[in-house]
Amino acid sequence: MIYLNGQFMPLEQAMVPVLDRGFIFGDGVYEVIPVYSRLPFRLDEHLRRLQHSLDSIKLANPHTDAEWKQIIHDLIEKNEGEDQYLYLQVTRGVAKRDHAFPKVIKQTVFMMSSPLLHPDPALKTSGVTAITAVDNRWLRCDIKSISLLPNVLLRQLAVEAGTMEAVLLRDGFLIEGAASNIFVVKNGTLYAPPKNHLMLPGITYDVVIELARANGIPVEIGDVPEAAVRDADELLLTSSTREVLPITQLDGQPVGNGQPGPIFQRMDTLYQTHKATVMRRKN
Ligand code: PMP
Repeated sequence: MIYLNGQFMPLEQAMVPVLDRGFIFGDGVYEVIPVYSRLPFRLDEHLRRLQHSLDSIKLANPHTDAEWKQIIHDLIEKNEGEDQYLYLQVTRGVAKRDHAFPKVIKQTVFMMSSPLLHPDPALKTSGVTAITAVDNRWLRCDIKSISLLPNVLLRQLAVEAGTMEAVLLRDGFLIEGAASNIFVVKNGTLYAPPKNHLMLPGITYDVVIELARANGIPVEIGDVPEAAVRDADELLLTSSTREVLPITQLDGQPVGNGQPGPIFQRMDTLYQTHKATVMRRKN
């Protein structure tokens, strides 16, 4: 069952007019929210980021947080599976094709639930591979925009190279992955690029930094030069659906000793424990 503009229905019945500005212009924003044990994880943070995206594209939020929470609750109820992930998108609605905003706006709101497939445990023991690519996206990557063509092309580049992710570099500095955030580990310290207009402020990025700080792992937030990426002891990839994964090969070269390292092991354990604790508390 999916949610579309106030109604729940089977996915096959959900229809959006072709003049929807999401279809015509990619004029909309989205969120991806993991659900563990039928409870949304870090929901307030996701709703805050949604508000930031909507504000940034000057689109009124069609719902209050309380309304979003009710829709999300109902959608989880109507779908099976303890662990799900919710995809929600808001577009600037249907209007005659014209770049400028329509005078009267009725946002299109769509939400669906999919089974949350946890990363293959083998990926945590073998690690994943990645390539580097020049970040050729725009200057507002902090907006979770549905206009994902550059991310699609960059991720495809990674897939065609037989790897999982493209690590994006702009002007000689690490930015993020095509669909993830990236951390560098050197001599036991976790280095992270700063949150700014060039990268998506990942919810998992925040969780990892919070957990590292709370557990005595030094964290440095600041510009990370490409040389530091290539000289890393470990590289970590984070996202809501992939959680924390070790990148063990970059551009065909081993990262550190080519094995998932101690900071990855520690962060993965902390993340799994944190998830379980939060969900137990909510239950
Ligand atoms: N950066 C980009 C470009 C992404 O697409 C994603 C995942 N949607 C992330 C970072 C990670 O964000 P989060 O931890 O909120 O999933």
